[in-house]
Amino acid sequence: SDHALEYPVSPADMDWAKYYPAYVAESTGDEANTTQQRPLKQDVEIVDIGCGYGGLLVALSPILPNKLMLGLEIRTQVTAFVQERIYALRKQAGDGSSAYQNAACIRANSMKFLPNFFKKDQLSKIFICFPDPHFKARKHKARIVSTTLNSEYAFALRPGGIVYTITDVEALHEWMVEHFDAHPSFERVSEEEVEADPCVAVMRAETEEGKKVARNKGLKFVALYRRREDPPW
Ligand code: SAM
Repeated sequence: SDHALEYPVSPADMDWAKYYPAYVAESTGDEANTTQQRPLKQDVEIVDIGCGYGGLLVALSPILPNKLMLGLEIRTQVTAFVQERIYALRKQAGDGSSAYQNAACIRANSMKFLPNFFKKDQLSKIFICFPDPHFKARKHKARIVSTTLNSEYAFALRPGGIVYTITDVEALHEWMVEHFDAHPSFERVSEEEVEADPCVAVMRAETEEGKKVARNKGLKFVALYRRREDPPW
């Protein structure tokens, strides 16, 4: 349960350097004045919620080589697997290569403490790929999309930022659409724009679940939502 999980008190308290060693900022000599001993040159901008075995991260890393991306995964061994996977890819790319240095995975319950990790407006993309469906009505509160959680996603996403969702469970797709449609901070991205977005192809083809669904010739339901500007008051 949660007592085994560690959370930073605030985003500034998180030691990101160990996850993105190639992105640690040059020392300025002023570090003693900040809570963060080893700040990064740039912030994490892309988050994959419930990243599973890391297929999306590994495929997205070379496509968005200048963006820092982070997978959040609740299962300890799955998290360790993804960390090893990324570490091996970095090693394979060799010293001096920046390949896969922009991707990392941490163990976290994304349904709790998301604001401890990310500042307001920090993120440009949040991926929610094949989340657990929790079919029974009494289990719906365990779903990763809800009015409350959507407000947390809205907080962390900058205006113009996008939430990407995909599932093979039509009822869950409808649930996600209903909750994002109802939320004042989000507007649905047009079908045209969805099809033109290269991240959508990655989400369909490179996630482990996406591959499984393709093998079984199942359907995949995609919906994207854009974070609106906050109203001017
Ligand atoms: N996104 C991956 C994919 O498309 O292949 C994995 C999908 S899998 C069906 C759902 C994943 O979400 C599992 O790995 C599960 O452990 C993880 N998960 C479930 N609840 C979570 C939570 N509250 N925080 C972080 N990860 C969670």
